Amino acid sequence: MSLTPLFNTYPDNELMPVRALGSKVWDQAGRSYIDLAGGIAVCAMGHSHPQLISCLEEQAHKFWHLSNFYTADSTLNLARELTRATFADRVFFTNSGAEAVETAIKLARRYHYSRGSVDRTHVLCFTGAFHGRTMLCLALGDKQAHREGFGPFPSDIERLPFNDIQALQQGIDSRLAAVLIEPVQGENGVVAAQPAFLEALRQACTDCGALLIFDEVQSGNGRTGELFAYMNSGIEPDILVTAKGLANGLPIGAVMAREQVAACMTPGSHGSTFGGNPLACAVALRNLELIQSSAVRRNVAARSLQIAQQFKRMNSGVFSHLNLSGLWAGYVLSDAFRGRVGELVTLCQEQGVLVLPAGDGQVLRLAPALNITEQDLAQGLQAVEAACRQWDL
Ligand SMILES: *Cc1c(COP(=O)(O)O)cnc(C)c1O
Repeated sequence: MSLTPLFNTYPDNELMPVRALGSKVWDQAGRSYIDLAGGIAVCAMGHSHPQLISCLEEQAHKFWHLSNFYTADSTLNLARELTRATFADRVFFTNSGAEAVETAIKLARRYHYSRGSVDRTHVLCFTGAFHGRTMLCLALGDKQAHREGFGPFPSDIERLPFNDIQALQQGIDSRLAAVLIEPVQGENGVVAAQPAFLEALRQACTDCGALLIFDEVQSGNGRTGELFAYMNSGIEPDILVTAKGLANGLPIGAVMAREQVAACMTPGSHGSTFGGNPLACAVALRNLELIQSSAVRRNVAARSLQIAQQFKRMNSGVFSHLNLSGLWAGYVLSDAFRGRVGELVTLCQEQGVLVLPAGDGQVLRLAPALNITEQDLAQGLQAVEAACRQWDL
């Protein structure tokens, strides 16, 4: 028997947080930590941001929930901001990343159905992908361990090798409804799709009439330096899903599309009780304004450089190379340490820094707040370095 009545789905951790501010976390034992995990790329503006707290309080005193039978102004304003800032004309709000991915696949199939292509249901996805934990998302993701014992799964899904332009051609045919890809694979260790690959994908989808879906649940909301990762390459998807960093920790996800695609969703065709919750939307709007401010954008660029420079200086035998995209880093373990990142994550915590595992145990991932200070980042990276020295003995 475990010590808690919770499902045993998450590893035990003696760290029980009691308070967090900016990029610092304090636990029950009075210890403090530098947070370079950001709640898994969620807390874009750090913890207890005063402007986000006041947004939350303001909406909390108005109303919390009236259902999507009535449009809340905070929900509407967030949709306006997302469509202003991106390629999209319309938004559907969900509670999570997985629900947003599910909705995107429903949208793609319904789009073809509404145009009379009723057998156009096939979906392509990629090796190394992670899309969430619902049945459909497990079928779309590449992790066999996540699927074990949970089948059967939704079908008509095919997985192709990531970043392989040649292999792409085999998957494209007239039954293809959509291609789902993370422009940067987060759970796989911050592995970017090559621009030429995305370009080939965009062209193939356009040529055959399939919809290109970018899963920016993790790469979105300023993580890579642009508001969304697609803006780095300029290659636009037909549908974009996001979630994690959108409301700095309040549960929310979003599916965004052009009018021509979104139009197939008619009254009653889809819904979500909590999706677009007014509290989460009020916070998300202010959060997006902060993320897009020049101060935060400059900070992401400067702190990204700081990570790259510290990595060079550290010159540790623990790592083979660094994947870096904005304020999002994957330290790939060298062969001698393969698959053992869990040990390093624990050592880091003992050294006073919170970090994340990724890439099937071979990548140490950082996704700190986009407004982390130079000093906090330096302190956190020093602790990572100390943990590596301890491990490398
Ligand atoms: C986290 C994640 C998801 C799933 O999001 P949940 O909110 O946990 O359902 C989907 N796609 C990507 C790329 C993610 O990183």
